[in-house]
Amino acid sequence: MVNLQKNKFSKNSILRISESSINYLKKLIGEKSDVIITTHYNPDGDAIGSSLALYHFLVAQGLNVTVLIPNELPSFLHWMPGSRKAVIYSENPTFGDGLISGADVLFCMDYNSLSRVKLFSEQLRASSATRVLIDHHIQPENEFDLIFSVTTVSSTSELLYQILDEAGFASEITRKMAECFFVGMMTDTGSFSYACNRPETFQIAANLIKTGLDVEKVHRMVYDTYSESRMRLLGHCLGSNMKVLPEYATAYIWLTKEDLENYNYQQGDTEGVVNYALSIQNVAVAALFTERDDRIRVSLRSKGEFSVNEFARTHFNGGGHRNAAGGDVFKSMPDTLVWFESLLPNISGEIHKSLANYK
Ligand code: 5GP
Ligand code: MN
Repeated sequence: MVNLQKNKFSKNSILRISESSINYLKKLIGEKSDVIITTHYNPDGDAIGSSLALYHFLVAQGLNVTVLIPNELPSFLHWMPGSRKAVIYSENPTFGDGLISGADVLFCMDYNSLSRVKLFSEQLRASSATRVLIDHHIQPENEFDLIFSVTTVSSTSELLYQILDEAGFASEITRKMAECFFVGMMTDTGSFSYACNRPETFQIAANLIKTGLDVEKVHRMVYDTYSESRMRLLGHCLGSNMKVLPEYATAYIWLTKEDLENYNYQQGDTEGVVNYALSIQNVAVAALFTERDDRIRVSLRSKGEFSVNEFARTHFNGGGHRNAAGGDVFKSMPDTLVWFESLLPNISGEIHKSLANYK
């Protein structure tokens, strides 16, 4: 095990792929150690895409690697190469704990705080393994040993590609890995419609296509595989459960447990729903409230400079990015909606300013 200096970083660090970090990462890879790749609770396309791309890469380098995810991945990602080999912690916590305690290196993909893992955060915190963060969310916590935190990239998948490229491994990126990278970049940008103004994003996509990646197939596998009930749930959201508040340039959607049961909810079925509310003209803030067993889960989106990250941190015990964030409320659904509406007059000026500047 190498002795390392705790990485120092400022709260709002932007680009953090330093030569010394790359060298240290190469050293870790060269040690052929036992590696666990972890990602956040309710893993999405970028969490799974970046984790599996790294998995394929490290396996090819001869390391002993396991992907450990807190809970099941959405069914539209089941086709991804290697996804079936991921260990799902919620299904066997004892086994997961054993994996963590036997690891030399823990990769932390697509999250900025160990608390985002929810089910095994404490085990990660207590581990003596080297914790390597690769992530694109702002304000990472100071609980990692090696930090790659870049907020200007589209996705963690894009960041991982850049890291491997800078470490001199670009020629080792296979078609299988390219599929994983592409899923992360595509899903975190809404099929390259937001968070994708950097030319590098498209240069990387082009490099991925050069490996033989079939973009149309990947898009089809992720987006054209809705179950009938998922599509009808979306119809229900837009038709019956959406409120638009023009005076606050805000729209929100709510889903009770009963709604979810009625439409045979499967994990991942509400992915993207909040974006429909945001796509209404003159709406600059959108929210989706989903009732869970012990909480209301909140998904927030914004257009322009209004930061839903700050909004989520202040009121919803959450966070994320400027234009996409999430959090939780511990109230009933009706109380949550009343409370949410009561917050809007205070931020109405900021939201309208954001909308005016966005046009
Ligand atoms: P989503 O609404 O798609 O669940 O999440 C949007 C973004 O906010 C994602 O980038 C996600 O990582 C982040 N996010 C969602 N929920 C939370 C949360 O509870 N805490 C923090 N810090 N970030 C969150
Ligand atoms: Mn991401």
